[in-house]
Amino acid sequence: MDLAGKVALVSGGSRGIGAAIATALAREGADVAITYVSAVDKAQAVVAQIQALGRRALALRADSADVVEVRAAVEQTAAEFGALDILVNNAGIALMGPLQEVTLEDVDRTLSIHVRASFVAAQAAARHMRADGRVINIGSCLAERVAGAEMTLYAMSKSALIGLSKGLAFDLGPRGITANVVHPGPIDTDMNPADSAQADEQRAKLALGHFGTAADVAATVVHLAGPGGRFITGTSIAVDGGSSA
Ligand code: NDP
Repeated sequence: MDLAGKVALVSGGSRGIGAAIATALAREGADVAITYVSAVDKAQAVVAQIQALGRRALALRADSADVVEVRAAVEQTAAEFGALDILVNNAGIALMGPLQEVTLEDVDRTLSIHVRASFVAAQAAARHMRADGRVINIGSCLAERVAGAEMTLYAMSKSALIGLSKGLAFDLGPRGITANVVHPGPIDTDMNPADSAQADEQRAKLALGHFGTAADVAATVVHLAGPGGRFITGTSIAVDGGSSA
């Protein structure tokens, strides 16, 4: 188990990609805290899954739109588990639609959850991280290639994570801490079900022609978090079925 003795915090770990990442990290030996905002039952189910693997687990209600709650989640994880080695900024929302219908509230909410929370969590987590720490941001294939209308705000917010990861790579590199962004393509979750009205259009743009699973993304996060990720920093890795090919 490559992550034995490590402590991870995964934002938005109650469902979908975040839940898969949290359990995959635990399977490799990490103790894991997750945040959620509303799905308390699902968050508790993820905690139970992690504990069944023999690891310590914690579900923290922390709205990523609220910087005080974001910082508190980092501090509570470090306090309860005595360390913090792996931060996964995964919590996200998909506010999409015609350009003229996007409100200022949509802009503020999206940027606060995707961008500000990721920055603030990384800043807070870095104070606790030991050498060999990891910051892993969950971006989107739309950060590199949009190829469609009504996704401007979402794409803008996810592309900011590229700059965040590159900057952090230099800020934290001297301490042996890496920072990267993983760009999922269409992944079958509540956010983007493989049977939605928009699914066929997405499949048509993929080299592999089908949606990925949350476990596909988690596998790459586990690799980055483990020894195989020690020389990978400041870069973007697509897990997107060829969306950007
Ligand atoms: P889901 O909607 O299935 O799950 C979202 C998770 O984020 C839930 O755990 C949810 O918590 C949490 N969350 C949402 N808003 C907040 C908030 N304000 N504060 C804290 N937690 C919050 O999404 P996915 O698993 O599909 O997406 C995970 C990440 O992957 C997102 O960043 C998304 O943008 C990105 N992504 C997804 C793709 C896809 O095709 N699915 C493609 C590319 C990127 P709760 O359960 O409490 O609501």
